[in-house]
Amino acid sequence: AEEVGGGDKEVVREYFNNSGFQRWKKIYGDTDDVNRVQRDIRLGHSKTVENVLKMLADEGPLSGVTVCDAGCGTGSLSIPLAKEGAIVSASDISASMVAEAEKNAREELSGKDNLSVVPVLPKFEVKDLESLDGKYDTVVCLDVLIHYPQSKADGMIAHLASLAENRLILSFAPKTFYYNLLKRVGELFPGPSKATRAYLHAEADVERALQKVGWRIRKRGLITTQFYFARLVEAVPA
Ligand code: SAM
Repeated sequence: AEEVGGGDKEVVREYFNNSGFQRWKKIYGDTDDVNRVQRDIRLGHSKTVENVLKMLADEGPLSGVTVCDAGCGTGSLSIPLAKEGAIVSASDISASMVAEAEKNAREELSGKDNLSVVPVLPKFEVKDLESLDGKYDTVVCLDVLIHYPQSKADGMIAHLASLAENRLILSFAPKTFYYNLLKRVGELFPGPSKATRAYLHAEADVERALQKVGWRIRKRGLITTQFYFARLVEAVPA
């Protein structure tokens, strides 16, 4: 993992418009040209998406519910949400990601008359989550905080909570002893595709950031595969 001068955000934007875009498009896709590690991460991430969809649907049907998908990537969550009838606002700091998500959405959502609801194409925007505004029933931000240290994550969490009327769902790489160790080993022996720094977050720190702005955690989940670790939390106004 390398530390690059300047803001984390500029480094992240550059990465996800270029090599990171190529790498993650493959991981989030369904083609066979992935290695064992990438295939494992694909599996872990798909479990996260599945868990989020379940968390959301548990509270009632999603038809007509407004959802902000902050840091939408290639649309892995936005598209299934739209299939459930949610009114999705999808945004990402990377223009490449947004273009890919929009293309995937058009392919997967147009002419779908076999669904129980008529999907509304998500509204796509190139925007970092810090500049998002508006109000949404639900705000979701999956696997984005890993790119930011806790000092930045606090502000990002507060901002996302300010956009949400009823719930905020976050996933992040948990700072646990075991995973910390793995990460340190990874830093000693960096692999070829480690292009950005990964930041782990202690669940207690995320919880404190939520509490500071008047939110509490209602549900928690943990998704792990061999190479993918995500803590999932659903927060609601306290
Ligand atoms: N949420 C998607 C998912 O789970 O499929 C994508 C996860 S991917 C690991 C991280 C995404 O966060 C990338 O698409 C990246 O461009 C985006 N991102 C990173 N920093 C961001 C920021 N400050 N604002 C908005 N998006 C950001």
